[in-house]
Amino acid sequence: MLKVKKAQFHGIKLPELSIGLDYSDADVQYIFVSHAHADHIPRNRQSLREHTNLVIYTTPPTAALMRLRGFKEDIIELPFYETLTTDQFNITLYPAGHILGSAMAFIESGVGNILYTGDCKTPASPATEGFELPKNRPVDQLIIEATFGLPIYRWKSTEQLQSDLLNFAEESLDAGYTPIFLGYNLGKAQEMMHMLRELPKTKQIHGAGYPLCAVYEEYGINLGTYKRYNRASSEGCLLFTPYSGLESGFASHIKKKRIAYCSGWASHEARRTQTQAHALIPLSDHLDYFELIKVCEYLQPKRIYITHTPDPKVVLHELQQRGLEAVYLDIDHEELG
Ligand SMILES: [Zn+2]
Ligand SMILES: [Zn+2]
Repeated sequence: MLKVKKAQFHGIKLPELSIGLDYSDADVQYIFVSHAHADHIPRNRQSLREHTNLVIYTTPPTAALMRLRGFKEDIIELPFYETLTTDQFNITLYPAGHILGSAMAFIESGVGNILYTGDCKTPASPATEGFELPKNRPVDQLIIEATFGLPIYRWKSTEQLQSDLLNFAEESLDAGYTPIFLGYNLGKAQEMMHMLRELPKTKQIHGAGYPLCAVYEEYGINLGTYKRYNRASSEGCLLFTPYSGLESGFASHIKKKRIAYCSGWASHEARRTQTQAHALIPLSDHLDYFELIKVCEYLQPKRIYITHTPDPKVVLHELQQRGLEAVYLDIDHEELG
């Protein structure tokens, strides 16, 4: 089996193949970026630039989103399902269902195969390319995230969540309130806009999220009618902002407004007071505990590495009960819900 190492800075290193996964150090030849959230993008840019043999790979939508968010280093685009072949390994990216462009990396080598999920969601978020595991190929080692890896997390269906969003919007508007959807600017905002696309109301999105919407549209995700947030015309629209936007004055002039906090973390009642929300909608971009166990059982890896979890004990115990070898890999990570 291949060695799997926690990176010094962030991400994971496969030293025998000189691969870094969501990695920032310049001591590898290949870096694969799973998706465009800040906690997965290389941060050590100066040293990456100086290391001329290093190549950064990601999917075309992730590359577009990274560039819009200010990433200036060269990126080689590797579309889903296309295999990159080197002397030592083959790598193929599979859709991870988390945000647009999010990819799982499947690495095949003479010393064994590894699947790295990055952040993932099954069933896939409707504003992504889907979720798909490698077929008819053994996964010897699986590195999987467990942000919501506790049995208290069991998500409602996408249809149910969509009707929760629609009801919140319609009830607020009918009562003369402006509905505000709280969620992060890349991924969650576009997912909600897509789910609300048929409401005949203009959407206005926070200025930092607005340019990212064009990439979603370019890849065929319908976001309905939307504009950049404009204070003067925002009242009575559907509004989308992260919590930090509210703190810096977003919609502060609107007296009659209602706020929905939309995140996996919305399953905690305490978030209501923390976010000043009138409604909590547990819409997550990560797989829940039960799907996590299902993926592991389906793949039957020889070893499972659990990452990004608030508490690894329960999930490790559950996997071991099912005859699967599982360990916890404690990598530096800041999770959006
Ligand atoms: Zn993410
Ligand atoms: Zn993440």
